Amino acid sequence: METRVITDFDGPLMNVSGRYYHVYQLCLEKNRADQSDIRLLPKSEFWQLKRNRVTEEEIGIISGLGEFEAKSFAKMRKATVHDLCYFEHDEIIPGVFESLERAQNMGLDLALMTMRRRRELEQAFQRYQFERFFREDRCYCLADDFIKTTDVQDKPTLMDRAQRELPPVQSTWMIGDTEADIAAAKKYQVKMIAVLSGIRSRDLLEKYDPDYIVDDLAQAIDLIAEHV
Ligand SMILES: [Mg+2]
Repeated sequence: METRVITDFDGPLMNVSGRYYHVYQLCLEKNRADQSDIRLLPKSEFWQLKRNRVTEEEIGIISGLGEFEAKSFAKMRKATVHDLCYFEHDEIIPGVFESLERAQNMGLDLALMTMRRRRELEQAFQRYQFERFFREDRCYCLADDFIKTTDVQDKPTLMDRAQRELPPVQSTWMIGDTEADIAAAKKYQVKMIAVLSGIRSRDLLEKYDPDYIVDDLAQAIDLIAEHV
């Protein structure tokens, strides 16, 4: 019987810090009051805040915005960060293709589960030919017109669909980088490997108690290889 690996997209496979930082800079510039001093955070500092789930509003305040401006900054950032034109700032995480090839050669059934909308996923598929690794019937993403609630609520809904539609296997592993992935895995008693290559810090991930925490996809596949 087969082993299935369901992986999240942003975090384990793609590094979105470039896009998030680019949009942060844009929104900060657009929301600064005239003449006011702002403090543009260096990318490493900005990403550290994101990994510790500091809110956008707080990031605005830390960057020198007043309370009113910070609210507008947060709103604009939320509305902008998923604009298709900014996805070009995403980068593939080094070693991902090798890890996916290895998983394929091990005979693992690979599936993708992401909170990206279909058009956002398709753009990355075209750029990196991910269809080599993920068949169409193994890709779970949000419809372009899906009305999002929160990731922690929406991700288990995707997992629910996958569990109903995918052929049964002997064991299933989930790889992801946030509390939403952990919530989805736990709800269906799927073994959960959290990776540190994404948007959450080790301290935060530990609070949600995944089965394992590793650096990246390569280490996650190593771990699965030990169990099959
Ligand atoms: Mg993710």
